[in-house]
Amino acid sequence: MTIPLLNLFLLFSFFALSFSHETPNPQNNHHNHHAFPRPLIIEYSELEEELKLRCTSWRFAGEANNLSPWITVPKECAEHVKEYMTGKGYIYDLEIVSKEAGEFAKSIQLKDDGLDAWIFDIDETLLSNLPYYSAHGYGFEVFDHEKFDAWVEKGVALAIEPSLKLYEDVLNLGYKVILLTGRKESHRAVTVDNLINAGFRDWHQLILRSSDDKGKLAVIYKSEKRSEMEKEGYRILGNSGDQWSDLLGSSISVRSFKLPNPMYYIA
Ligand SMILES: [Mg+2]
Repeated sequence: MTIPLLNLFLLFSFFALSFSHETPNPQNNHHNHHAFPRPLIIEYSELEEELKLRCTSWRFAGEANNLSPWITVPKECAEHVKEYMTGKGYIYDLEIVSKEAGEFAKSIQLKDDGLDAWIFDIDETLLSNLPYYSAHGYGFEVFDHEKFDAWVEKGVALAIEPSLKLYEDVLNLGYKVILLTGRKESHRAVTVDNLINAGFRDWHQLILRSSDDKGKLAVIYKSEKRSEMEKEGYRILGNSGDQWSDLLGSSISVRSFKLPNPMYYIA
C-alpha cells in the first residue's frame, strides 16, 4: 500500500469513527456496533503501526545511503522524524556509534610520530542544530542556506554529548583531531567560539570551505582535503560524520562512523 493511500484510509477511519459517535438511536447503534466501530479501531491501530514501520524503513534506507539523493523528509514521515529526533531513539543511536568508534580507537596501537589522525565533521556530528531544525520542520522544509547561515552566526549550537565523549577519548589516546566541515571560512571565528563553548578543545586543525572550494560537492571537497592530509603524512584511522559525503570518496579512513541524521542529505 502506498503512503498517500494509507493517509486516505486513516482519514476514512477518523470520519467513520466520528460518524458512529453521532448516532444516538439504539437501533442504529446496534447496527453500527456490528458494522463499524470495532473493526475500524483495529484497522486504525494497524494502519498507525504500518505508517510507523514504513517511516522507519524510509529512515533506515536513508542511513544506509540507499535513498540518495533526497531533498526533504516525506510529508507522511514528518511527525515520525520529529519524534525520533526529539526522543530516546536518536540519543541511543548516537551513543552506539560513539561507543563503537571509541572501541575501535582504543584497539589501534598508535605510532609515536604524532601522525595518527581522527577526522570529525561538525554539524550534526559534534554540534547539534536541533534548535534550528525544530523551527523548520525537522527536515520537512526545503533547506534554506540564508536562514541556516543566520543560525550558524549566532554560535549557539549544542554539543552532541556522545560525540563529545568520543572526542575526548580520541584526544586522550593521542590521536591528532582534524575538524573538516562544509561551513564557510567566513564562519571560522563563530565556529571556534561555538565549539569551545560547547566543550570541544585542542583540535589540531580546523578546515573550512575556502573560496576555492565553493560549489564543490561535499564528497569531492572532503576527499581533496583528506588527500592533502595524507600527503602531509597523516594516517587517517577514523572519521566521524552524519553524511555519507563526509565518509566516502577517496583517501577514506580505515574505519568510518556514520552518525544518524534523517533531517537532511548532502551530496
Ligand atoms: Mg554534518
